[in-house]
Amino acid sequence: MTRPSYDLVIQGAGPVGCALALGLRRSRLRILVLEARPRTDTPADRRSIALSWGSRHLLDALGQWPLATPASAIEQVHVSQRGYFGRVLIRASERGVPALGYVAAYEGLSRGMRDALTGLSDCELRQGARVLSTELAPDRIHVRVDDQGSAREFDAAMLVVAEGSADTVVREVDYEQCAIVANVRAQRPAQAVAYERFTADGPIALLPFGEEFALVWTLPSEGAKALARAGADALLASLDRAFGSRLGAFMAARDLGIFPLRLRVAGPPAHPRRLALGNAAQSLHPVAGQGLNLGLRDAAELADQVCAAPGNLGSATLAETYLARRRIDRAATVAATDLLARLFLGESTLQGCLRGAGLAVTDAISPLKSTLAKQMMYGLRL
Ligand SMILES: Cc1cc2nc3c(=O)[nH]c(=O)nc-3n(C[C@H](O)[C@H](O)[C@H](O)COP(=O)(O)OP(=O)(O)OC[C@H]3O[C@@H](n4cnc5c(N)ncnc54)[C@H](O)[C@@H]3O)c2cc1C
Repeated sequence: MTRPSYDLVIQGAGPVGCALALGLRRSRLRILVLEARPRTDTPADRRSIALSWGSRHLLDALGQWPLATPASAIEQVHVSQRGYFGRVLIRASERGVPALGYVAAYEGLSRGMRDALTGLSDCELRQGARVLSTELAPDRIHVRVDDQGSAREFDAAMLVVAEGSADTVVREVDYEQCAIVANVRAQRPAQAVAYERFTADGPIALLPFGEEFALVWTLPSEGAKALARAGADALLASLDRAFGSRLGAFMAARDLGIFPLRLRVAGPPAHPRRLALGNAAQSLHPVAGQGLNLGLRDAAELADQVCAAPGNLGSATLAETYLARRRIDRAATVAATDLLARLFLGESTLQGCLRGAGLAVTDAISPLKSTLAKQMMYGLRL
């Protein structure tokens, strides 16, 4: 059977798959991007995303800044712990940047990037096209697809899996937690300050989004599901109790959603023709808002490597160089996120006091705070 042939097939047009395709726009490679969701799908994903200052630069380089969807600046990040002293305050002005990062809706961001792909001459985007399986041939990879109900096959020198979940997992942690997301309004409007408040049940992130806050509240799974079922009024009352009075009372909540939380790290690629990027390589706890930022750095690195040597597509040299250059950033971000997800859990007073002292020390010691701010803003891209 003759199959339409491409240089590169990208499986998944989430923000990471799109970032890779956009990063390769000057490579003249023939690229096919396959996205399982049909174009007409109504937006169902309610999460908001904190994009770091470094991600803004990466998106700018892709011609995606300003975003095609509203984004709100984060000028300060305030980290605290319920019931104990100590806090860390990081200000954009002290770092010499106008914003530490930005908040945008996941759906708007993804849709804007997908729309940008449709304007590229060497890139074809097929929506409603789910990859079912792949098969390696000596110099190609065959990709079987359910394309809006019809079976189709494509073939390429290389496949990048950016479908948002890993198939071969070497490390998996079920945190037995879920994140409740919603847009909430407090008595005091959001003024470009992001709050991360650790409680014994899990962290509460309130990210400034217009005058409202995008809430990401981690709770033990059963409690989170019960709260999500109970609806907006119950959520507001619980949030008042858990967050405290810093922003006055919480008055309205809309667009509630819930996500189970797991750490999943994919194993090394079985073959250099099939590389995983973004959440397909590592899915993180959202506590530090790092998953997409890390995935965008993955995409930028691979695009740089391919543009520098397009002839290496699908080769062991490309896979080895890419993985070596991404190893430290990925390992450090996975470890830091996992540590944070566990560190603040538990009711012990001694632990609470030690963590409080840790926050106070981090705030007071400039090099420590600076390291934290740099990691948050840029990651560890070599
Ligand atoms: C509650 C929550 C809050 C978060 N907050 C932040 C944050 O503040 N900052 C941050 O950086 N990260 C955050 N993250 C993480 C972030 O959402 C992910 O890291 C990011 O979405 C990963 O992008 P991706 O493109 O790799 O995968 P995805 O966004 O999952 O996209 C994958 C795409 O592949 C498609 N697909 C799936 N299977 C197939 C198939 N077989 N064939 C073709 N297409 C397929 C899917 O439809 C989807 O469009 C958060 C996550 C959660 C759950």
